[in-house]
Amino acid sequence: MTPDREPARATTRAHARFLGERTWPEVQSAIARNAGVILPIGATEQHGPHLPLNTDVVLPTEVALAVAEPLDLLVAPALAYGSRSRPLSGGGQGFVGTTSLRGPTFIALITDVLSEWLRHGFRRLAVLNWHWENHNFVYEGAYEALELRTRTDARIAVMESPFGQLSPETMNTLYPEGFPGWEPEHASILETSLMMHLRPDLVREELMIDDAAARSPWYDVLPTPDDFVPTSGVLWKATQATREKGELAWGEIVEGVSQALVKDLPRTRSDDA
Ligand code: MN
Repeated sequence: MTPDREPARATTRAHARFLGERTWPEVQSAIARNAGVILPIGATEQHGPHLPLNTDVVLPTEVALAVAEPLDLLVAPALAYGSRSRPLSGGGQGFVGTTSLRGPTFIALITDVLSEWLRHGFRRLAVLNWHWENHNFVYEGAYEALELRTRTDARIAVMESPFGQLSPETMNTLYPEGFPGWEPEHASILETSLMMHLRPDLVREELMIDDAAARSPWYDVLPTPDDFVPTSGVLWKATQATREKGELAWGEIVEGVSQALVKDLPRTRSDDA
């Protein structure tokens, strides 16, 4: 293995950008220089027989660590629980290990955590969510947190599913047989490829399979019909995942998040100058 092929496994070691590994005086001085804070948000959710339950936590944490240094951001302890898994985008709640929060609990969690950082004096805040079903709940929590505070010079970047911005060329490389949409792309090509690139130690490559629900209509039904959920928990084609695809997508995702934060959460905002 050549050095440039070393997996980027920042989540396995101590990291100067982890907020939780800093002391309170270190955080105090970071706030004094207008450092920001970024909160990775995921879920504890089944990702097939080949990926771990914390896939949605590892991936945004890795992205946050990758962009933190040049933007002077501290990476907060990730939110490892999220909103209910839905059958057509995550396999639903029927799998052992999928451990979810009710919507109001999840919104309150985000509101409370962001409110605390606003209280400490952070003015540059970002949330980076990976779990599809968290959308809107995350926005709601951030919205409420900002409304609770009286100071108006803080800003929160709400970033969800950063893989949605991949270039057409990269999408063609990832999905040579056609893109099925992000909802069935669960525990399949993108997530498996990224984990193979970043955390190969967590991927059971010999268990990678292709699967699909017998039926994936445009609507949901409660209780969940059996044919909405493939028994493996893989909603599409995990066997087409490769480390090369992971590396390609990873570079673009990190660049996209970085550019967004440079634009809207710069180290020194123009109104601070
Ligand atoms: Mn998920």
